[in-house]
Amino acid sequence: MGIERGEGFVLRVRDFAESDVIVTLFTEQWGKRTGIAKGARRFKSRLGGVFDLLNRVEVVFYAKAQLDLISQGALISGYPRLKSSLNTVVSALSVGKLLERLLPLHQREDAPYALFAEYLGRMEEGTSPAEQMAVAAMLKIVAVLGHRPQFTACVRCGSTSGPFVFVPERGGVMCTRCEQRGIDISRGLALSLNALIDRPLSRAGIIHLKPDEIALARDMLDAYVRELVGAPRGMMKV
Ligand SMILES: [Zn+2]
Repeated sequence: MGIERGEGFVLRVRDFAESDVIVTLFTEQWGKRTGIAKGARRFKSRLGGVFDLLNRVEVVFYAKAQLDLISQGALISGYPRLKSSLNTVVSALSVGKLLERLLPLHQREDAPYALFAEYLGRMEEGTSPAEQMAVAAMLKIVAVLGHRPQFTACVRCGSTSGPFVFVPERGGVMCTRCEQRGIDISRGLALSLNALIDRPLSRAGIIHLKPDEIALARDMLDAYVRELVGAPRGMMKV
């Protein structure tokens, strides 16, 4: 790879040195890449405002093994309506954060890219329930990346009668006869989350989740993603 041009989403931005930024992008053609945009924080820089979180951008970059050199950038969409609501932007940032943590480096990922684009587009339309859409988008992204959680039966014995706990290190629910330690989850919620994975995002709003169920789903997803990326956690291995 030499010089490349393409589009992507801004997943992470860090200030660097006097006036540079280090940007992690989810590009359409080359997956997750991190690059440096020199002088992007300078007053009058043409890159000013381009690399804000969740922006859809077009970039020209010199591909490097570690850190690309981003030479040009232009805004395709800044999703102004999405970002006008704190509730919506916090939800969308959590989806971006999940992608940033879970995407492998330098590997094209068409299905998660299409899902993220659709999700941000729907949030920009402003008609969908933000938190539930974020949960649906995160579940679907986890699933298309090959880590679909098992919600329909105990991962050890296959039982469909609960009570159940979600066990992040086992990638799914377990009946309490097989395992007691985990996150308590009702069979109803487990089946709702399973349905959210299979439904198109456009119909995520049909499945009604209560606020406490959304909070629980987010806790489970967070624990599961931490398990997948091997980050330190409080729970003991079973
Ligand atoms: Zn079991």
